[in-house]
Amino acid sequence: MTLTAVHLGMDDIDSPRGGCTTHFASLLVEDLTQLGARWLDYPNLIRLNPNIPYRTRGNGAVTLRFEIKDSAVDKVLPRSNLLLKEYLKEDYPNTNPGMVITTGDVPVDLLGFAKLALWRTVPVALARRLVARLALPHIVVGNGRGLIGALSAIGNQLRQDHTYEYIAYRSIELTSRARGVDVDSVFRMNQKFGNRLFSNVDVSTRKILIEPHGPDPVIYGIRGETPLDVIKAADSIQSSQDKERWMVFRTNQGTGEHLRHRVRLSDIRPYMAAVVEGEVTTKSKIIEGGHVIFRITDGSAIAECAVYEPTGDFREIATMLTEGDKVSLDVGVRPASRMHGLTLNVEGLEILQLTDKPILANPICPHCLKRMKSAGKEKGFKCIRCGFKDPQAKKIEIPVERQLKVGRYLPPPRAQRHLTRPKDRMNRMNNGIPNNLVGKWYEP
Ligand code: ATP
Repeated sequence: MTLTAVHLGMDDIDSPRGGCTTHFASLLVEDLTQLGARWLDYPNLIRLNPNIPYRTRGNGAVTLRFEIKDSAVDKVLPRSNLLLKEYLKEDYPNTNPGMVITTGDVPVDLLGFAKLALWRTVPVALARRLVARLALPHIVVGNGRGLIGALSAIGNQLRQDHTYEYIAYRSIELTSRARGVDVDSVFRMNQKFGNRLFSNVDVSTRKILIEPHGPDPVIYGIRGETPLDVIKAADSIQSSQDKERWMVFRTNQGTGEHLRHRVRLSDIRPYMAAVVEGEVTTKSKIIEGGHVIFRITDGSAIAECAVYEPTGDFREIATMLTEGDKVSLDVGVRPASRMHGLTLNVEGLEILQLTDKPILANPICPHCLKRMKSAGKEKGFKCIRCGFKDPQAKKIEIPVERQLKVGRYLPPPRAQRHLTRPKDRMNRMNNGIPNNLVGKWYEP
């Protein structure tokens, strides 16, 4: 019996009853196991460009990678299609599912495509052309947008840094009820597992980050460094809703993979995820709503940058930036609208150099020790209290003591993207595709 390696990518599988792509993938894993699939990897949950407007939540796509008897390969897509139809039940205009199959080694064209989808907006036409050129068996519903995520998820094999997420699901019939995840149990878990887990709680607000808020089947998701860590950690969690099933995903969450491109300000385009470097040209100001705005230039253009109110302490750092400071910014590009110009939404900030330019101030009167006023252009200064005049006096330089320090700053965990590399993972890399999967990585 010879086996063929299959990569089955999928995306945009929502349903009016509140389904989601990872939940559908968990049903498909069960179905394909019955068909004889031998799993080569944990299901891969690939987060794509977080700035694109079409996403429902965190712009995640999934790939299943397995070996199967040659004779069963042709059954995989029809079987997936049956399950998809059952899952979607009725036409739903807001979802555009896509599924794609490749066999053997992943085609090199998909590797580049997957890289692009992490930081740019990819046209559906490009995905369709790729599928046609490589003659890839596929399923599309609606406008075909799901093909973009499906192809990208196949193309990103997570050969370098990666992490894991354990996702617990409730019954799809119960997605309108409260999940009731117990906050104390989550903090206990966090304490117990330390830096083997990440981005599950926001300590400063005592908020838990594992529980979503929409009407989807996810009860909670635990992010961590290894499959065993997240599986063991899940034992600690209490919730009022019962777990109907669970599965472990290998993912690019927490790796910062979307921010690999340093872009000149003149080359910035809407929806990009990019790193930009420049000098602050205006002291930051706080606008209505408590958001902080400042401008930077790199010589090629000037860009407006925004740090939003919910980012807490991170926003305080931005308020202290001043003209002349050199910074590197991780940004998501918000297109211009009627209300504002193109804006760089800052999701990470590195202060490269702080200006030590002194402030220029009027000189002090030697008699009354008060600050003098200008006596007119090139006429020096005069004291309006005692009448003392000094035609030779010049402005004096006052050194500025900066409260800021050179270094890297991030928003608090509650305001980070799924892809953001958090502080806990700063020096951590999990390289390579796992050789063996743990005994039990999904249920039922
Ligand atoms: P869910 O959790 O239900 O999967 P989601 O937030 O992942 O929701 P989707 O409903 O999957 O969002 O919608 C995202 C859509 O955007 C998909 O159709 C996907 O193919 C497409 N997409 C993903 N990345 C890009 C990109 N870089 N350029 C253009 N389209 C993209």
